[in-house]
Amino acid sequence: MTDKLFLQDAYLKSCEARVEALTAEGGIVLNQSVFYATGGGQPGDSGSLALEDGRSIAINTCIKGENDALVLLPADGPVAGLEVGHGVEAILDWDRRFAHMAMHTSLHLLCASIEAGVTGGSIGAEKSRLDFDLEDSPDKEALEQRLNDLIAGAHDVHASTITAEALDAQPELVRTMSVAPPRDASGLIRVVRIGSEARPVDFQPCGGTHVANTAEIGRVRVGKVEKKGKQNRRINIHWEPINP
Ligand SMILES: [Zn+2]
Repeated sequence: MTDKLFLQDAYLKSCEARVEALTAEGGIVLNQSVFYATGGGQPGDSGSLALEDGRSIAINTCIKGENDALVLLPADGPVAGLEVGHGVEAILDWDRRFAHMAMHTSLHLLCASIEAGVTGGSIGAEKSRLDFDLEDSPDKEALEQRLNDLIAGAHDVHASTITAEALDAQPELVRTMSVAPPRDASGLIRVVRIGSEARPVDFQPCGGTHVANTAEIGRVRVGKVEKKGKQNRRINIHWEPINP
């Protein structure tokens, strides 16, 4: 099991860690991780590991392994000389991760702006998309205006956990029709709220990483709205950061 530091603080850019296991494919399991593992439509993080002997190892991505372990995949395969118990410093490719955070929060705002179930989605550093159970295409200009108004509204983003019973009592929170809400080892479900508790802009189960305030996003542009079947509209959004 890997302690997922990014769930407590999505702004941690690096951490000291210890090698807990090495997989047959050369994957590296640490006791704690700032690297998010691919899941929920958000890509795994890339970055590097600084080893005790001074070497720097490029990490392509992070994936989920067995028993709640997160597995770092080195760009050049198994690392010669690396052993269980070695200390490392894990360092994120922060620009890419922050893009994923800005995009993930933007997709929750998109979700809050469309009255329809979500059937799929994908997050990228520059372009992201959500698929909606929707027969008519929304007005692109009005949607873009609404998204940017929500971003400029400087709403705080807050993560917490609730019990499965509490979630079952509020089925309207589950917007994604195809994915079961993420549960942690104790069965609790992580929920992310944008806006105040009294008047939330969006509130739904989510295991991803988000910006702390919507104002950090900058702007988004609504791209193509694609027809993917009679009852499905794919809405693409592009990120326009404040300081590109
Ligand atoms: Zn999410």
